Amino acid sequence: KKLPLDPSEEPGVRQVKGACFSRVKPQPLTKPRFVAVSQEALALLGLDGEAVLNDPLGPEYLSGSRVMPGSEPAAHCYCGHQFGQFAGQLGDGAACYLGEVKVPSAQDPELLRENPSGRWEIQVKGAGLTPYSRQADGRKVLRSSIREFLCSEAMHFLGVPTTRAGSVVTSDSRVIRDVYYSGNPRHERCSVVLRIAPTFLRFGSFEIFKQADEFTGRQGPSYGRDEIRGQMMDYVIDMFYPEIQQNYPDWLERNVAFFREVMLRTARLVAQWQCVGFCHGVLNTDNMSILGVTLDYGPYGFMDRFDPDFICNASDNSGRYSYQAQPAICRWNLVKLAEALAPELPPDRAEAVMDEYLDLFNRFYLENMRKKLGLLKKEEPEDELLITQLLQTMHNTGADFTNTFRSLSQISCPTEGQSEGDEDLAKKATDLLLEQCASLEELKAANKPSMDPRELAMLLSMAQSNPALFQMISDRATIARQLERLSRLKDLMETSQEELRTKHAEEWTSWITRYRKRLALELEGQSDVQAVQEERVKVMDSANPRVVLRNYIAQNAIEAAENGDFSEVQRVLKVLEKPFSDQPGLELPAWMGGDGATAQAERD
Ligand code: AMP
Ligand code: MG
Ligand code: MG
Repeated sequence: KKLPLDPSEEPGVRQVKGACFSRVKPQPLTKPRFVAVSQEALALLGLDGEAVLNDPLGPEYLSGSRVMPGSEPAAHCYCGHQFGQFAGQLGDGAACYLGEVKVPSAQDPELLRENPSGRWEIQVKGAGLTPYSRQADGRKVLRSSIREFLCSEAMHFLGVPTTRAGSVVTSDSRVIRDVYYSGNPRHERCSVVLRIAPTFLRFGSFEIFKQADEFTGRQGPSYGRDEIRGQMMDYVIDMFYPEIQQNYPDWLERNVAFFREVMLRTARLVAQWQCVGFCHGVLNTDNMSILGVTLDYGPYGFMDRFDPDFICNASDNSGRYSYQAQPAICRWNLVKLAEALAPELPPDRAEAVMDEYLDLFNRFYLENMRKKLGLLKKEEPEDELLITQLLQTMHNTGADFTNTFRSLSQISCPTEGQSEGDEDLAKKATDLLLEQCASLEELKAANKPSMDPRELAMLLSMAQSNPALFQMISDRATIARQLERLSRLKDLMETSQEELRTKHAEEWTSWITRYRKRLALELEGQSDVQAVQEERVKVMDSANPRVVLRNYIAQNAIEAAENGDFSEVQRVLKVLEKPFSDQPGLELPAWMGGDGATAQAERD
């Protein structure tokens, strides 16, 4: 039965004092069946994936169509800032908490480090209406579910903290979706992802208490908001940050330490995203985990060719959530969290914590990048510049992010006194990197301004004649980006394929020369040069994945699954479970394999 959207419509729905979860019943699916399961993720719950797959009731339970004994399903009410604006209460209209599982294997010391609570929360995403579904249906479709399932697991195996996915179930239940607002709505299969995490609480879980008044005009204290915010904070620290709970007997100092740890984890997480070329796409505060793990796989994207302005969310016109904006956006989100925690966290203390953010991010980023470049024995002041120049060269030549980094371990160190043959080695390195570069036509396509040139010209003249109006309808950064593309495009128009190739070769040779000089420093004072080289290759090959979940890889698996063939999803998962190993398959760059189009799966 459809739940009423307005609480006043029906006596069954009412405001509850001191609560931020509502009991719900997941809506059963018609003929639920597995698309894929992640053995590794299900093992967290003490489940044997094989046995679950073979159990006729497996898809029923893992989709919430049947509720496990002892489970008390509930939907969490949370808030958030979306695209920079406070959006009030907005979630969770589509995901349903099933409970927490505590199994003996979760007490394994290594797992306890990842999840000190020793219990794993399970959620079904797409299990139907909740009191927070607003105008939507609480359902998810096969496309978005496969994307969330595959990427959750892919990120885990890349070593990036993330929520996990145990299974994806599809069914004969249908909902209508119009993916591209094309006016051609399709009936799509309702599908459910079983998500697993220590907790799904997020920044927005705390914002709901601070901001409820501003949004609803309700009176605060009578709803017990201050108490539950404090309780929720106590719960989070006690369960997931036990060391802080133990080490800070003073309540206020404990709270500051907690916020600092969330800040640190967030800085480390976003540094990891940058280093694998991952763009989250919807970094609203409600998608920021209180544990600093990747949360909510909507329109995310892994970059193919490096472009700092990479935007993977089709509705992000201003590039607020572009690749290079991520570190600053996460900082902004942390400030919003601090504001929500104000009663527990004095603003001046929060500010002092935030002052550390940029340095910490840079430290994590550099540490990670040094591994990717194999700069292990020394830290040189010019390393930062070497990294920036690498990215700049990748951008200029349209080089593939993942493949370029992966190929760096094949560039040899110049060995002392052995100048003979060294020129050959340098040339070989250039050839290797040239393979990753884009052709003239590809570069032209990549630099095509997304804005109509006439509109751009109009905005530019407006910027001069009426700056106030310009400010209102546009922003400088967007225009600057468009202009940069236009100027690159103009240069490309006057270039031939041969000239371009020569230019790319020159750029790469110049970078490689600098890189090899830096590599030579690694050998300084080392007696066993061979061992140093081998270690370098080993570290690099476990820091630079050979395979990431490129858009077309997900797309292929989705198309097959929509046609009833689920084997590709399972095959892709197997490959993504070993992203650093040299196994065959899936190495095609996106422009060879298929549709590099912006992922639209969030329109679900
Ligand atoms: P997102 O932008 O993916 O973080 O979604 C924000 C919120 O929108 C979620 O927390 C849900 O409450 C709500 N939402 C998203 N999809 C649906 C859906 N299909 N039905 C109901 N609510 C949804
Ligand atoms: Mg979300
Ligand atoms: Mg989402």
